[in-house]
Amino acid sequence: MTLIEVNSFIGGQWISPAKDAAQIKSAVTGQPVALCGHAGLDMAAAREFAIKHGGPALREMTFHDRAYKLKDLATYLGTRKQELYELSYDTGGTLSDHKIDVDGGIGTVYVFSAKGRRELPDAQIYLDGEVEQLSRNGSFQGLHICTPLQGVAVHINAYNFPVWGMLEKLAPSLLAGVPCIVKPATATSQVAAACVRMILDSELFPDGAVQLISGSTGNLLDLLDCQDVVSFTGSASTALMLRSTPNILRNSVRFTAEQDSLNASVLGPDAGVGSPEFDLFVKEVLTEMTTKAGQKCTAIRRIFAPEAVTRELCDALAAGLGRITVGDPRLPDVGMGALVSRAQKADVLAKSDLIASEADLICGDGLFAPLGVDPEQGAFMAPRLYRAQDADAAKHIHGTEAFGPVSTVLGYRDANHAAALINRGGGSLVASVVTRDPKFAAEMAVKSAAYHGRLYFNNRDSMGESTGHGSPLPHMVHGGPGRAGGGEELGGVRGVMHYMQRTAVQGSPEILSAVAQTWVPGAPKQTLDRHPFTLGFNALQLGDTLETEPRIVTLEDIETFAHFTGDTFYAHMDDTAARANPFFPGRVAHGYLLLSFAAGLFVQPDPGPVLANTGLNALRFQKPVSPDDSIKVQLTVGHKTRRNDDYGEVRWHVLLINQDGDQVAEYELMTMNEY
Ligand code: NAP
Repeated sequence: MTLIEVNSFIGGQWISPAKDAAQIKSAVTGQPVALCGHAGLDMAAAREFAIKHGGPALREMTFHDRAYKLKDLATYLGTRKQELYELSYDTGGTLSDHKIDVDGGIGTVYVFSAKGRRELPDAQIYLDGEVEQLSRNGSFQGLHICTPLQGVAVHINAYNFPVWGMLEKLAPSLLAGVPCIVKPATATSQVAAACVRMILDSELFPDGAVQLISGSTGNLLDLLDCQDVVSFTGSASTALMLRSTPNILRNSVRFTAEQDSLNASVLGPDAGVGSPEFDLFVKEVLTEMTTKAGQKCTAIRRIFAPEAVTRELCDALAAGLGRITVGDPRLPDVGMGALVSRAQKADVLAKSDLIASEADLICGDGLFAPLGVDPEQGAFMAPRLYRAQDADAAKHIHGTEAFGPVSTVLGYRDANHAAALINRGGGSLVASVVTRDPKFAAEMAVKSAAYHGRLYFNNRDSMGESTGHGSPLPHMVHGGPGRAGGGEELGGVRGVMHYMQRTAVQGSPEILSAVAQTWVPGAPKQTLDRHPFTLGFNALQLGDTLETEPRIVTLEDIETFAHFTGDTFYAHMDDTAARANPFFPGRVAHGYLLLSFAAGLFVQPDPGPVLANTGLNALRFQKPVSPDDSIKVQLTVGHKTRRNDDYGEVRWHVLLINQDGDQVAEYELMTMNEY
């Protein structure tokens, strides 16, 4: 059989494995399937290619340009999934495992594309938070900007999700505008490399945006500086070794680690045997133990239940595990495939022996015949369930990650005890609690959230749509404190920020406006000789301003508005009661009446480039408006964001000013405008 050559892609060239490359063996048959590794790769050239070509070309684009490319990439990969599934069988997974990896990875790219277009500007700079007032008169202010790092993102990935694990890092890096060098784990590198080839074949991203190291990273970590990032996923021991590289420490190179985790799941005290929550709990634990043969960083390793129900829980779990067929992952009846390699199996068995010293084996003694394969060749094992002898005295159970289908049931007495026990993992990626009792849920959150990157609550009300204990979602933060690595990935725009530098910027409003590509209050405005609603998106400039004529607000207006809308709150209707209120000098106009009058003052009624008013932000009523006061409006173009081929969003800064020149209200108005 011809072996797959897992090539590297460095400096624009594909490089074959060297003669001494590592052989990758099928997890199913034990036969060699691929060759990976080349000790002589020129890492300096790889980094330079990224920095000279990939980085500048990516930074030339806006967030939206890059987000659209990600969308096209996800679509492109979506048409080539079958090839990745086929290659993945030799890693031991079933088709549903491959879908989590491949479809999950593609879905993650789609979400980053959508979030990039919705939550990031169509610009090269991201503004983080509001303008900070640093001076009495506003001539000196501050804001925070984020810009892409100018180095390279080195992504070192674990073997268990060769596609998802790669794409969940590539998408935020590329969206940020930072080129990537991907280093997949050798054991499943043939799948990751095939996906990288597809990314390059798509020709969507500029030269140097994505490179691939198959095999060792050589001296790459010794070459990095303050503009580079390492995003690592793998074991705690490898993370420790890599993050201790003197050059990484010397240059304060960002190092994000996602490492192993003793994730817990807790059955609430309200979830008695036979309840929908009990059944749901059993189902989730079975899924987590057997998906990817338990080789998931988020898999449930420790299963907590009230002491009185641990026996029934063990019976239900053992019965469920007994129904899962282990064997050739290509066979339709098989529910669990193999571990990635025989070495991994040996590691899992050794670690489960440690757990066995503190627990009783409930099922999975190893005397089993996997379906359709030679058990001597592949890396198959039966799922193993243990019950702890003493949850408090146990050490290995709370401290040993057997990265395979091995979990332990432990009993707890009450919420305090449950929280203390789950926290014994020393920092985890996720803890789940299956309960319908809001008080128990809240108590668990207060007592344990600090130890876990994600808390997942589920019960009969949410189970129909819940996404599963073990699924990191691109919208939500993935990572955890302590043992889990102390890192944080995903989480929407938060994940993009790992590849950017946040910089505090101080200066005059005019300077800040230019830097932030957003009009900052106090910066110069241009009064137009045309109504801005007659100008298309492209013609509008930041700072373009319309100042309206004033309008007097009468008592009759207030009464008409009150009776028309039904808002007869006493502050608008009863002078004595209003005066007794510390906020009002007497009867005052409704805030919503002022907003409506403001619209009446600034709107240009004819059909034109303004397509719709889509909302307003940060509305503040700053001063009451009494009968016979007048208001006028200043409407200023604050920010523009391209939305699609037809229209973009304009954010207008709106000020309402009274007859004395005092601000009475301020808000941001959003409209969709044709180009
Ligand atoms: P690993 O052995 O620690 O390897 C992780 C990555 O580090 C691989 O790409 C590996 O490459 C690379 N590596 C090892 N030594 C290196 C060195 N000296 N220089 C540069 N790179 C080096 O972990 P694994 O066995 O692949 O994955 C299993 C572990 O990952 C489990 O502990 C699991 O909990 C954890 N994991 C965590 C997450 C998470 O999100 N927190 C996700 C998945 C997995 P080679 O393969 O070529 O050695």
